[in-house]
Amino acid sequence: MSKFTEVTIVNKIQIANKVFVIEIKREFSFKPGQIIGITMSPKQNPRLYSICSGNNEHNISILFNIKDDGELTPPLAAANIGDKIWITKVQGKFIFNNKPSWWIATGTGIAPFYSMFKSGQQPLKLIQGGRLKTDMYFSNVFKELSNYVRCCSQDKGDDIFEGRLTKYIGDLNNIPTNIDYYLCGSTDMVVDIRKLLIKKGVGFNNIITEIYF
Ligand SMILES: Cc1cc2nc3c(=O)[nH]c(=O)nc-3n(C[C@H](O)[C@H](O)[C@H](O)COP(=O)(O)OP(=O)(O)OC[C@H]3O[C@@H](n4cnc5c(N)ncnc54)[C@H](O)[C@@H]3O)c2cc1C
Repeated sequence: MSKFTEVTIVNKIQIANKVFVIEIKREFSFKPGQIIGITMSPKQNPRLYSICSGNNEHNISILFNIKDDGELTPPLAAANIGDKIWITKVQGKFIFNNKPSWWIATGTGIAPFYSMFKSGQQPLKLIQGGRLKTDMYFSNVFKELSNYVRCCSQDKGDDIFEGRLTKYIGDLNNIPTNIDYYLCGSTDMVVDIRKLLIKKGVGFNNIITEIYF
């Protein structure tokens, strides 16, 4: 039996330069923060993607950016509504425990937090990092949060921390050490932020990570 299920793209939106959200019909249940594998052909190895929609929505959304020399993302970005793709079963353990926590993301690493938020879960604080304001995906929705920080390394503007996420966290005094920290993004970001948090007194077991390698 194939490990893949054939599904149809029912919506596709470009939300930033080289950044897309595609949607398929939801025909399975999942916990916010979980992932699925996607491929354009059952003969190719699937790539993993966080589900980026609420668990009560009709469709499953996936947020991805194009890697110019990548195998999947250029053809996936060129796919149209009505095209077929193949997905794996839902998997993954990056699941919110509903304890007081900070959520920290860069780039497309915001996807699982968007799923959690759209499913009714909330952090004490959300910190989103990227180069430009346009990299702050879904910020119009996250602005509903009372404690939402956007860190832009190469952009300015109202309500923007001008600098990298590591600088923002590094500059903070007395961060809470009795809460959990959820990190999602590139290997470098997760490793750097975890080191910083541990240096500031957060326990290793209070740091829950999802690395997009
Ligand atoms: C748990 C998890 C969740 C993820 N969730 C998301 C998500 O929600 N959104 C998202 O955008 N991404 C996510 N990713 C990343 C995603 O799985 C893909 O890796 C990404 O989209 C690139 O896929 P691709 O096929 O286009 O590129 P690939 O073909 O996989 O190539 C990726 C990069 O690696 C380089 N590369 C390829 N092969 C080699 C090699 N042999 N040696 C050296 N370099 C090589 C390529 O040049 C390219 O720059 C996730 C990853 C993980 C592990």
